[in-house]
Amino acid sequence: MGDFDRPDWSGRLRRVWRTPPADVCALVVSSPANIKYLCGFDGSAGLVLTTPDRTWLLVDGRYDRSARLSRAAGQLADVEIATLSGSVERLLSTLVSEAGPGSLGFEAHHVTVATFRAWERACPGRTFVATTNWIERLRIIKERAELTAIRRACAVTSDVARDLSRWVREGRTEREIAWDIEEAMRRAGATRPAFETIVASGPNSALPHARPTDRQLQRGDLVVLDFGGVLDGYCGDLTRMAGVGEVKAEARGLFEAVRAAHGAALAAVRAEAPVFEVDAAARRVLTTHGFGDAILHATGHGLGLEVHEAPRLGRRSESSGDRPGEPIDREMDRLAAGMVCTIEPGAYVEGVGGVRLEDDVVVTDEGCEVLTEAPRDLLLV
Ligand code: ZN
Ligand code: ZN
Repeated sequence: MGDFDRPDWSGRLRRVWRTPPADVCALVVSSPANIKYLCGFDGSAGLVLTTPDRTWLLVDGRYDRSARLSRAAGQLADVEIATLSGSVERLLSTLVSEAGPGSLGFEAHHVTVATFRAWERACPGRTFVATTNWIERLRIIKERAELTAIRRACAVTSDVARDLSRWVREGRTEREIAWDIEEAMRRAGATRPAFETIVASGPNSALPHARPTDRQLQRGDLVVLDFGGVLDGYCGDLTRMAGVGEVKAEARGLFEAVRAAHGAALAAVRAEAPVFEVDAAARRVLTTHGFGDAILHATGHGLGLEVHEAPRLGRRSESSGDRPGEPIDREMDRLAAGMVCTIEPGAYVEGVGGVRLEDDVVVTDEGCEVLTEAPRDLLLV
């Protein structure tokens, strides 16, 4: 990684404290993706404690040396490394006492009840404040270096999509094909698949998140192929469709409807557009084609360090970043230039099969730039 591509960690840590919740003097970051975003650390265990003036990375003995070496090499932000000798709660309470007066923020989506109670016990007299989307909100607009990484992930994923005809054939199993796709992504430079590759054929294609099975592809099958590679920590995510032998008119009609919905959703993407309008554009087309009841998921999601991140391109009532029982986060309900998201309308009909087409785009003022350029036709094998 050259200097040019180094993430702007110090800028990110500054932006954390631009509009903190009232009275919060420090934030404990426990989401692995948020920790990586703030300081570059991607070990399996660690915490970040950040205040407006200081930031600590809390690690255990396994990561002490590698974290220090990474920091010296510029692969980790210039944070203070605090290595625990006893419990993580004890170290946390010691550091928190240096943070001055005020409440302690924590990430409500990422802390278990047991962990939260242990922190509370270790820091008597401290008020804890549950926060949501504090760091996620910063991650939603990608920096130049992040876009470079995402472009590379999408390029590798698209290259593999162009080669699908090599692996998708009658008689081969879903698992064999998934394995070939993942191998091809790794050969092309991906460090790992961004998620478990989906190869769903025939009746399985009607299940949006089917796992690959030992089912062999048969004539007449629709096949959903959904995969993505990770490069430099960032994800690609793409879905293409294949048909085995002669595909029935019904299945062809389903494909054409989803393809039209995909085009309508892409056309609705631009900075300032409410996210639910993109979803509505896809839904309108599918409903017109008689597939309104066959829509089982939102039209897209943000993409970056995680394969699913903010914003969520769903219906108005279920828009971005929210979870059941929580208020909708209006701030993340509008697209903005520099956001990266997927456009992936789908329709699933028992007895016919399922169709999904998925591309990754970066939002621009005028519309969007598609990052996954591989043919979108029904691949007939
Ligand atoms: Zn996908
Ligand atoms: Zn996706």
